[in-house]
Amino acid sequence: MALRNIITDPDSRLRKISRPVKEITPHIITLLDDMAETMKQAEGVGLAAPQVGVLRRVVVIDVGEGLIELINPEIISQSGKQKGPEACLSVEDRKGLVERPNKVTVKALDREGNERIIEGEGLLARCLCHEIDHLDGILYIDKMEREMELDEEYEENEEA
Ligand code: ZN
Repeated sequence: MALRNIITDPDSRLRKISRPVKEITPHIITLLDDMAETMKQAEGVGLAAPQVGVLRRVVVIDVGEGLIELINPEIISQSGKQKGPEACLSVEDRKGLVERPNKVTVKALDREGNERIIEGEGLLARCLCHEIDHLDGILYIDKMEREMELDEEYEENEEA
């Protein structure tokens, strides 16, 4: 495994649409391994392949409940709303208030090529939406309601 360099806004690669993975090659497995290591080292909760300059639909997430690897993820349903602070390893020294669905259901392939359904609520739902947006060239700053101070606390009032 190796650490990859995380690219940052305004690098134009962050604004591209990533291509689906057609075949899970050793190259994709190495990418998944490297992304997990890079995310951990950067103390992030999620990382999408375009953030390491690879325009493929690959995401890793760990919100403290174990590593989730997603290949070609798609949101197939969503419900509720939540509003809360969001930041991104590719958007340095900024933070914003973003509204997201409170629950999402995501369909994706795992590294063996098996289809998986992931149900996410709260932080995991937020993270799934944020990372899948990266695959379409969308950053949270495009959707934020307002910029937040880096040390600003936000008390979430969830509407289920
Ligand atoms: Zn991000």
